[in-house]
Amino acid sequence: MSMSSRLREVIMEDIPDITSDTVDRLRKLNINSVYQLAVQTPSELVLEISDGLFDIGEASNLIGNARKILTERQILSKEFSTADDLLEKRNKISRYATGSKKFDDFLNGGFESQAITEISGEFGSGKSQICHALCVAANNLVENNKLDDDDENKQSAAETIIFIDTENTFRVDRIYQIAEQNGFDPLTILQKVYHCKIFNSEELESVINNLDKSIEQYNTKLVIVDSIISLHRAEFSGRETLGERQQRLGKMLNKLRRYADIYNIAVVITNQVVSYTDNSQFGSDYIKPAGGNVMGHSSTYRIFLKRSGKNRLATIFDSPYHPNQQIKFSISDDGIQNASSYKGPENVDGNDSTW
Ligand code: ATP
Ligand code: MG
Repeated sequence: MSMSSRLREVIMEDIPDITSDTVDRLRKLNINSVYQLAVQTPSELVLEISDGLFDIGEASNLIGNARKILTERQILSKEFSTADDLLEKRNKISRYATGSKKFDDFLNGGFESQAITEISGEFGSGKSQICHALCVAANNLVENNKLDDDDENKQSAAETIIFIDTENTFRVDRIYQIAEQNGFDPLTILQKVYHCKIFNSEELESVINNLDKSIEQYNTKLVIVDSIISLHRAEFSGRETLGERQQRLGKMLNKLRRYADIYNIAVVITNQVVSYTDNSQFGSDYIKPAGGNVMGHSSTYRIFLKRSGKNRLATIFDSPYHPNQQIKFSISDDGIQNASSYKGPENVDGNDSTW
């Protein structure tokens, strides 16, 4: 079912005990759907949005009731759900492909909805290239890779994609090229990609905070943030501001997680790396994803990229159900490709040092 028909299914007036005065007050705050209400936390509604129109008690009640109605309609899972109910929710997961069969197999079909997938790696490791390839492949799945509805690895076409670009590295001609090389009509693809260029951390926070409106307006299924951390890292660079940076980062990730869940969308974020010296390893320099524990706990799936000659290595190193595994891929005019020497996913369990 498309997002717009799903959105039509549940209206504000369906919220238990809601009065028309409350609906009016919410509309004044530009909260126009049950989803937009359910995605808030009570303190966000009171402290950041409400302008004195709601107190905390009323806000928690309202949000609780909005979530309740979404739970009844089986859009959200219950606080206590039996595992078979959860299975039903998992069956609604869509997967969005990169165009490389091996990369998509590595992700069990593609980037998942109801989840945040983080791609980290050094500069030039291919993070933005994957994001661009995803814009093309994800938009074409239904037409070109149709799978049965009840297929376990259901791949879907994104209705639209929102690409949040904080590094000014989004290149429309690269998407055009990947689309053309793969035999798709580039303009059809480009029409479905909403690019949002961001210049500072506050702007990024504000765009993420208000993304529910755009997700509904554009019927978005996939949100890409390339990169989630660069602006915060540049603006909060000293030790004394690290706490604040982490708190702001955590808040954005938390909000993205709620969108992924409530709107059944896929969120793909890119992350940078930090170098550190591990004295126990004879002082060698290592790299790891930036953002520390906040990033670690917020991402559902974590992928680390590394250059390997002219190819790239991708490792899934944190996932609730994928084994730790690694694949090789390459980047070409076509987008993301299977590396020539590729021999199938390699299980690298217990060998974390490879990344
Ligand atoms: P950063 O941290 O700087 O944003 P990144 O991980 O996003 O880095 P990408 O921009 O994804 O890096 O990768 C850039 C690399 O992709 C280039 O260095 C080049 O090796 C490769 N690349 C880009 N376009 C092509 C192409 N058409 N054919 C082959 N390789 C390409
Ligand atoms: Mg990049």
